[in-house]
Amino acid sequence: MIIGVIGAGQLGMMLGESARELGCDCIFLDPNKNSPAKKIGEVLSYEFNDLKAIKKLSSQCDVITYEFENVPVKSINFIDPRKVYPPSDALETTQDRLKEKHLFDSLEIPVAEYSKVDSFSDLLDAADSLGYQFLIKTRSFGYDGKGQFLIKDESDIRKAWDQLGNQPLIAEKKIKFDREISIIGARSLSGEIALYPLTKNNHVNGILRTSRSTDENAIVTKQAHDYLSSLLKKLNYVGVLALELFVKDEKVIANEYAPRVHNSGHWTIEGTETSQFENHLRAIMDMKLGDTTVKGFAGMENLIGCIPAEIKGLSSEFFFHDYDKEERQGRKLGHVSIVTPEEEDREIKLKEIQRIISQT
Ligand code: AMP
Repeated sequence: MIIGVIGAGQLGMMLGESARELGCDCIFLDPNKNSPAKKIGEVLSYEFNDLKAIKKLSSQCDVITYEFENVPVKSINFIDPRKVYPPSDALETTQDRLKEKHLFDSLEIPVAEYSKVDSFSDLLDAADSLGYQFLIKTRSFGYDGKGQFLIKDESDIRKAWDQLGNQPLIAEKKIKFDREISIIGARSLSGEIALYPLTKNNHVNGILRTSRSTDENAIVTKQAHDYLSSLLKKLNYVGVLALELFVKDEKVIANEYAPRVHNSGHWTIEGTETSQFENHLRAIMDMKLGDTTVKGFAGMENLIGCIPAEIKGLSSEFFFHDYDKEERQGRKLGHVSIVTPEEEDREIKLKEIQRIISQT
């Protein structure tokens, strides 16, 4: 099988590594020829909205997928729908936070109280109806906390509007959550579903820093499973889907979903028999999905902005993944995963990685 991947970033690279293990080749499409996935397979260097390039990719591959959610829907719709997964509806919905919230509403998945903001007067209405604090977010193209403004009180309203007011927005009540978790699952072409154990996530400045596999209590786990399963079915989904969630007083509240493999699931590479990357490929090739049970206690620390030299010298109990990207502030350059038989040992090892990072 030859798999076409739109996007050749680190997620594409890790998909490609799994594809190799399954005996498949990958061809990538990305305007940046020098992307992390270049070490795996050919990168066709064209813009994502270049339909001729999409046609070329399609003619060379048996099945096509994508590794980021800002792929132009038009490009996906240009491909035979029996050849490209996840389905374009899932992509189109998540590219507009308002549509995404409406989908959650229709499935009775709880979300933060929200309202549409198309004008300054809508923003004032949002402040009245939601109360402080609340966030405004761009409806499209936001990621890693970008395109967001936290409005703490009335004095922030004008500043927030000046910064983001030139595009469609959504206002969202700020949730005082107890913790952030995510759930990742795969659904195959035949409709088989496999869910991973929940992941507990810590963000710094809107960017994911640390993930840990977690045994949440039964009440939280059931809500997360039900919500992800209902999304997978409603979207007639094929591939891996990640759902980001807040937990407050044991109630699970959805933030957003990503129609792709997800940073919070990187620990599955070493922490489970079948990683999220392998299960994504299995799902789109309609193979039986693999075991998602966690082997012990897994954790992952992102390397953001720079990779300290000491990281490269860590023992083989630390799994260092280098994305071969140039250093830049706020950029994800790699990650380190660990899997331990005891929870305490995981925490010691995560602290060790955090100590190294904090010294740079
Ligand atoms: P997002 O880009 O929507 O994934 O948001 C990035 C991060 O901002 C989330 O992981 C949360 O830490 C925080 N955040 C986003 N929306 C809310 C909200 N409604 N209430 C509290 N925190 C939020």
